[in-house]
Amino acid sequence: MLELRPSCECCDRDLPPDTADAVICSFECTFCRHCAETTLRGRCPNCGGNLVSRPIRPAAALAKFPASSTRKFKPSGCVKVA
Ligand SMILES: [Zn+2]
Ligand SMILES: [Zn+2]
Repeated sequence: MLELRPSCECCDRDLPPDTADAVICSFECTFCRHCAETTLRGRCPNCGGNLVSRPIRPAAALAKFPASSTRKFKPSGCVKVA
């Protein structure tokens, strides 16, 4: 099951489970769309994989399968791609 992490790994901004602004890689590394498009240019800095829009879990499902509350923040990994 998708972890639905609560924040961007690069800028630590909140990414609630119903935002259309979150992107993930295949390992669920989670970023905001802004970082993904500017700093990261569509590539996950951890694994090199591509970043895609995170699906939104419907509220009913979210009540049963809550989003993760573990924040991951490692700005050192988010270097600007030259
Ligand atoms: Zn960000
Ligand atoms: Zn990744």
